[in-house]
Amino acid sequence: MRGVGLQRRLVRSWPFCPLSAITIQMITTEQALKIILDSVKPSAEVEWPPLAEALGATLAQDALSDIDIPPFHRVTVDGYAVIASDGPGQYPVVEDVPAGHYPKVMIRPGEVSKVMTGAPLPEGADAVIAVEKTGGFADVGRMARIDEPISQGKNISRQGEDLKAGQTALARGAVIGPAQAAVLASVGVDPCPIFRRPRVAVLATGDELVDCQRKPGPGQIRNSNGPSTMALIKSAGVTGVNLGTAGDSEAALEEKIRQGMESDFLIVSGGVSAGDRDLVPAVLARCGYRTLFHKVAVKPGKPTLFGVSAAGRHVFGLPGNPVSSMVIFELFILPALMRFQGAPHQAMAVEARLEASFKRKDAQRQEYLPVRMSWEEGGFLARTIDYHGSGHFIALTQANGLIMIPMGVTSLPKGSVVSARFTLGRIAPAQ
Ligand code: AMP
Ligand code: MG
Repeated sequence: MRGVGLQRRLVRSWPFCPLSAITIQMITTEQALKIILDSVKPSAEVEWPPLAEALGATLAQDALSDIDIPPFHRVTVDGYAVIASDGPGQYPVVEDVPAGHYPKVMIRPGEVSKVMTGAPLPEGADAVIAVEKTGGFADVGRMARIDEPISQGKNISRQGEDLKAGQTALARGAVIGPAQAAVLASVGVDPCPIFRRPRVAVLATGDELVDCQRKPGPGQIRNSNGPSTMALIKSAGVTGVNLGTAGDSEAALEEKIRQGMESDFLIVSGGVSAGDRDLVPAVLARCGYRTLFHKVAVKPGKPTLFGVSAAGRHVFGLPGNPVSSMVIFELFILPALMRFQGAPHQAMAVEARLEASFKRKDAQRQEYLPVRMSWEEGGFLARTIDYHGSGHFIALTQANGLIMIPMGVTSLPKGSVVSARFTLGRIAPAQ
């Protein structure tokens, strides 16, 4: 009786009592993300893969330029290198300079050289006139007709105007995308120093699961979370290790979880909720993981678990429903993988207008709904798709994003502006 009375008092006195806060209150997505980002420490280890394999990774050292860029005064149009003060007129062509050849002849007043885009500017010249503004290309020794006046410096990129030798071309911490790859290539950084990328092990759990090569028997389904999680990992540019499936027995789970513990992250789907076959939290604890949170006020994905091992490696336990596991990957796992690589976490939220009104009864959780977004009338329009819950993964093939309905919101009229994000699997068919 005393115990019950105490518990009641604790409940009544919430939010001032931390014990009841722990037992009653689920953490918010923002709190969960903070716990994740505080616990995952950026890796200090540096790897040197070929530049072509560094896409998505974080640069671990400042990349200094070993040359000026451009490396010489570079011609930017096909035409004639001229002395601007000569003006329009007829002039002898003294040299033909294609890209990749260094000019040998210095231009004197009253002379021009034929030059192609990308060629170095001949000495003596101070402008380039496009062939369209001349009488056309003439051979060396013949006369070129320059039809229009031109000002000094025209159609020339000056040596070192983009970057000088010794300057930082790309700072440590940059995430390597296509533009960064172009810069690194231009300054000769290949292989390329990056912070070590995490290894991520993926385990799907459930007695009902069979590998996708097999036809499910009575009561069985194919494991779709394994392939979808591996695909998400690949989209995030890191290495996945597929551990396959484990049934709902402590022994089977423990064997696979111990394999997964060797990776920087272990993602376990299924078996984290409150069912009597949901053994994953207990087995994780037995394997030495400390739970940092279990249950988040988010829909889908409420039972999500996050923990850390004695060796500082992390585990995510995701609900088995395929939509939940994909949404939670986007919300929590992707930021963790970026954090591990020392990349800043950026929630790529955009504003989107709802095409239709939204209603729900229970507003205790932040909710994510798959939508198809398109740019219409000066903003993103979010169209809801036919979607009936977190088991309905087939619906996601029609979606390219997620909209977020905040906690406490039960209805939104058509046209409301909501926070939205494009998902990693953002390529949805046009319809
Ligand atoms: P659980 O989180 O284990 O309670 O599973 C929730 C739902 O997700 C159940 O309907 C499971 O059959 C389903 N499920 C669990 N794991 C997978 C998986 N790897 N692929 C597809 N569906 C799954
Ligand atoms: Mg299960």
